[in-house]
Amino acid sequence: MYSNILRHPGPTPIPKKVELAMAQNMISHRSEEFVKLYRETTERVKPIFGTKQDILLLPSGGTAALEAAVVNTVTPGDEVVVITVGAFGDYFVSICEKYGLKVHNLEKNWGEACTKEELIDFLKPISNIKAVFATYNETSTGILNPVEQLAEVVREHSDALFIVDGVSGIGGAPAEMDEWGIDILVTGSQKAMMLPPGLALLAVSEKAWKVIEANGSTAYYLNLLSYRDWAAKGMTPNTPAVSLIMGLSAVCDLIEEEGGFSKTVERHNVMKNMVRESMKALSIELLTSDEFASPTITTIRTPEGLDLATYLGHLKKKYHLDFAGGLNHLQGKVFRFGHMGYCFPSDVLQAVSLMEAGLQDFSYQFKPGAGVQAAQNVYLSSIRK
Ligand SMILES: *Cc1c(COP(=O)(O)O)cnc(C)c1O
Repeated sequence: MYSNILRHPGPTPIPKKVELAMAQNMISHRSEEFVKLYRETTERVKPIFGTKQDILLLPSGGTAALEAAVVNTVTPGDEVVVITVGAFGDYFVSICEKYGLKVHNLEKNWGEACTKEELIDFLKPISNIKAVFATYNETSTGILNPVEQLAEVVREHSDALFIVDGVSGIGGAPAEMDEWGIDILVTGSQKAMMLPPGLALLAVSEKAWKVIEANGSTAYYLNLLSYRDWAAKGMTPNTPAVSLIMGLSAVCDLIEEEGGFSKTVERHNVMKNMVRESMKALSIELLTSDEFASPTITTIRTPEGLDLATYLGHLKKKYHLDFAGGLNHLQGKVFRFGHMGYCFPSDVLQAVSLMEAGLQDFSYQFKPGAGVQAAQNVYLSSIRK
């Protein structure tokens, strides 16, 4: 069967080079070959996180790594702050509540970011906070939280750890974990990292390691200290997702071939602007402001007069273009255009063009070609620079 054009925020398309890397002969996770693969690959991932710390690899989805970030750093009864700007912030709230933490929830309307000033005001009346949790790239709304500034606030106004869910951002959005002062940064394989689901990546600051050591977590499979001990030997405590790590090595090749991670970030930025300008040209509203817009996913309001489920179903059936719908209360009101990982300006031009074809089928009033032209203008000015 021919594949759909998967413009989702994960899982996302996989490059052929990565697929072929994952099809190699299996190796033992206790072999010299594995140690070499593990050491070289985790070293090459560091620029994507902006860290000198070890990159730890969990054979899991992103959620397990979020849970690891919670259960290793705090103990039941501790007070924590969770910054929620959409559906994925609620993951941290749920994990923290299940674990018996006292959660102070800084909740924003969906489509807004958390600003520095808001976090300062929120932290003022609370003391004894052990950790502040935030989402970097909120996948439900397409917001990129200003985590660099939030990290600074956490540092200046508390002794808390700053723990960031980078799933769907890391791999496409800029990240300077060490410089910004993020204590734990987590991501998953199937969003901007160009891999199938099943591998989580995280890094831990020196400050957080001290807290984790003192904490003596009760976690077994998600025990980060045991991941650290094994990482020193170039291995993982249990059987890792060997094929996905082979794929990750090919992902690093591709990013290096692109000219390094900063080029990958630039490409995502161009695609973000292409999508946004094309929707403006089609008079279709965006959920978020340009200021905090995600470079990996754009959330778009239902075009005026259309039934969203019918329109998206039509795009998928007739043009094989597959967008993601809205989550929770935004269902039916917005759809999500993923432009992360293995996605290029040419893919954005294709998707905008097919979107326009679908709009014509439903007699939406617009100037045909206006969206494509706007996207093309952004693209051409980016390469003529
Ligand atoms: C997808 C996602 C998660 C959950 O990851 P899973 O791999 O589904 O467990 C968490 N946070 C964000 C921001 C995400 O986009």
